[in-house]
Amino acid sequence: MRQIQLEYENIGSLKRELQKISRWQKTSVSSAMIFDIYTQTLDIRQIGQICGTIREMLPEALYRGCSSNGNIFTGKCSDKDILIVCTLTEYPSTRMKILQYQLTDRTEQMVVEALKKELEENPWVKAVELLTTMRGMSMTNFCDDLSTIRNKVEIFGGGAFSPDINDTAAIVFSSEGGCSDNSVVFNLIGGDCFHVKTMHVTGWKPLGRELLVTASEGSRLIELDHRPAYETYYKYLKIANNEDFFSNTLEFPFFYNHKGHEILRAPVSANPDGSLEMTADMEKNVKARIAYGDPWTILDSVNSGAAKIGAFQPEVIHVYSCAARRTYWGDEASKETLPFQQLAPTSGFYTAGEFLRTGNVVDQHNVTLVVAAMREGDKVDELPIEIEEEERNYPGKVSMINRLATFIEAATEELEEANRQLENMAITDGLTQLYNRSEIQRRIKVSLEQYGKDVALVMIDIDNFKHINDTYGHAEGDNVLRALSQMLKEIIGETGVDSRAGRWGGEEFMIYVRGGSAARAEELAERFRAGFEQLTFEEADRQTISVGVVYAQEGDETDKLCDLADNALYTAKRTGKNKVVLCER
Ligand code: GH3
Ligand code: MG
Ligand code: MG
Repeated sequence: MRQIQLEYENIGSLKRELQKISRWQKTSVSSAMIFDIYTQTLDIRQIGQICGTIREMLPEALYRGCSSNGNIFTGKCSDKDILIVCTLTEYPSTRMKILQYQLTDRTEQMVVEALKKELEENPWVKAVELLTTMRGMSMTNFCDDLSTIRNKVEIFGGGAFSPDINDTAAIVFSSEGGCSDNSVVFNLIGGDCFHVKTMHVTGWKPLGRELLVTASEGSRLIELDHRPAYETYYKYLKIANNEDFFSNTLEFPFFYNHKGHEILRAPVSANPDGSLEMTADMEKNVKARIAYGDPWTILDSVNSGAAKIGAFQPEVIHVYSCAARRTYWGDEASKETLPFQQLAPTSGFYTAGEFLRTGNVVDQHNVTLVVAAMREGDKVDELPIEIEEEERNYPGKVSMINRLATFIEAATEELEEANRQLENMAITDGLTQLYNRSEIQRRIKVSLEQYGKDVALVMIDIDNFKHINDTYGHAEGDNVLRALSQMLKEIIGETGVDSRAGRWGGEEFMIYVRGGSAARAEELAERFRAGFEQLTFEEADRQTISVGVVYAQEGDETDKLCDLADNALYTAKRTGKNKVVLCER
């Protein structure tokens, strides 16, 4: 693959460059030619002129492009409005094909179906590079549908952005369709000798405790831990809800795990009701943490990512970087893209969303750098390489930030562990390590709500337990309680039923069985009874239990069902003990 990158000056200079490309193309082998055009102006007439010139002078060339929030030229943030990147492939088997579709909530599914059909007809495709407008549309369904595309096709690309970060106006265009403010352009690339390696780098690190998303609507994050989402930024970072909110929160996006992948979401603005407009959807019930972007930590991540890409021996590199990263770095934005230029010509743009397939799943990232490295030829051994790093001027300052972040992380981990232990203690009975009464009651209630009549209770009371205490001492009584509890757990585990045991009080125990297992409650009860009878205690020798069983009926409530189990147990006691009695209803 060969690449020529030009920062657009005027039509005259473009024509001269295209002439050179045309001459060069005639004397060398090239199988496909594509122009990527990234524009920081929305001047449709000018874009039309550029596309028209390419069509006229190189009729077989493909082109595709979009509006951007800044362009990346030879690994650096470009100060020109329009970047034109010409890529020529050299192996006859390498192929490309451009598709352009209108993309709206209504057409999204059809677009992916059409793409799938193209992939069936073109088995040579190894990568789908996409440029898409977003226009406030949720891309979640689109990503989910793209995830069902045949395995082994790499998918990556970026969302067209507006030159003005506060505006949503954006366009895409290609040799298959005109300028559009609601379309997606796919470039299918493949062939036996074409290879691609993709990755994403964030560099942001999670900080502090997990916050549960308790209410959200698409990209509107309404509540965290049942409080208005904005309060998190005020409480932990004292970031006020004013015109600087976006730039102040940029260093602190949310970090969470989505289908096994790390995702960042940044707030765009805060609403008067305390909800936050985010860069993309954040689903209810995800556990998010605030993340912190520290320049050196980010560069470390970029450099270790670049080393992996270097091992692939790329010929060209495309980067899709979030516009928020450009704002974050300011004048130093090139720092995190230049390491890639050490490896191969690197071009791209600052996006409104970075798309990448990892495993099978296509994610929309934010605040992320997506990198796609490409090459032609035979497969190579991927040998590790070293990236040259620039000297670090402020080691003291850096280590302070890093150390404080590490301190917060460690302290949070300790608190979370302590919380887990407290939560566990609050639901566990100390002597027997079974659930305590309130927890088993709560679980019976939940089971009745979820499984209705497919719930049964087994209630146990040790026979003549007062006598054990009186004769062998309280300590031996405790041993008997612990042994019975252990046995209950073992039998539940062995039989594989959906069931849990709790200590109801004194020497009484309550076990629920639910779902498909509920019908096995009597069998389970008999196993408990027979099993306990076989245990021998050092002093108390052999002992027995009485058991009551009840099957739930539609509409039963917790207290009523427990009373019925207790009645059955009472009958067992009254009629001779050491037996299982079923509640007749
Ligand atoms: P029945 O066969 O009718 O069930 O007679 P019982 O003696 O088992 O019943 P009763 O309710 O008269 O006695 C229960 C005893 O359990 C009384 C109480 O001191 C004892 N007990 C309650 N909690 C504990 C405990 O944690 N450890 C010990 N060792 N004994 C306990
Ligand atoms: Mg009792
Ligand atoms: Mg008893």
